[in-house]
Amino acid sequence: MNPVLNLVNVTLEYPDGESTLKALDSVHLRVDAGEFFSLVGPSGSGKSSLLAVAATLVRPSSGLVIIDGEDTTGLNDTELTALRREKVGIIFQQPNLLPSLTAVEQLIIGDHLRGKPSAPARKRASELLDVVGLGASLSKRPHQLSGGQRQRVNIARALMGRPRVLLVDEPTAALDHERSESIVRLLRQVTDEFATATVMVTHDTDFLPFTDSVATMRDGHLGLRTPVGPPN
Ligand code: ADP
Ligand code: MG
Repeated sequence: MNPVLNLVNVTLEYPDGESTLKALDSVHLRVDAGEFFSLVGPSGSGKSSLLAVAATLVRPSSGLVIIDGEDTTGLNDTELTALRREKVGIIFQQPNLLPSLTAVEQLIIGDHLRGKPSAPARKRASELLDVVGLGASLSKRPHQLSGGQRQRVNIARALMGRPRVLLVDEPTAALDHERSESIVRLLRQVTDEFATATVMVTHDTDFLPFTDSVATMRDGHLGLRTPVGPPN
């Protein structure tokens, strides 16, 4: 099977005084459709850098980022933005919802700005909010939702563009254990249902069994990937 996300020998360097810091050092990673990969490792080890490069938000210093078979190396910024909109969903720790918008509006504002007709977008937004368990909260604004519900809106929003790759950075960092588990279960569900290649950064090893495999990042090096079993 062709990987949906394929990082080939990726190195990312930042200037660091008179030398350089390797945030990513010769990283290889392949994630297939419907695969849920989790990434752990100490703070500063390069986990967010890996997501940023995979999202094409940051260009690597060397190596290839191939998304859905397309090598992104030669693309200009406009082409990268288009590819990102079409193929990549990004979910960060903080949902960053707009305070004045309803749940449905949080999802369709992107399409609205892209000039798409709003009726189909509205329909898709309602369906996705239903998938994430918020079918009864379509018209609620962020302050009327719990932290877990806001993260669900965030996840539904990331799915609006039908992404092939889903990149998730510490989605449960602001949530208690029970809500965290339900968010990771939901990410498992959407990975299966929408066949996304999902990468989740997490510090919470309790939830690894919901994913397919895990690897540890240390000083920019990605360790060997280990399969993890389904939860009991
Ligand atoms: P993690 O997500 O595992 O905590 P990061 O990917 O955020 O790690 O950071 C990896 C390393 O790269 C750290 O040493 C961090 O200080 C450095 N770094 C991250 N972003 C930048 C940047 N924009 N400029 C310079 N150094 C950065
Ligand atoms: Mg980070």
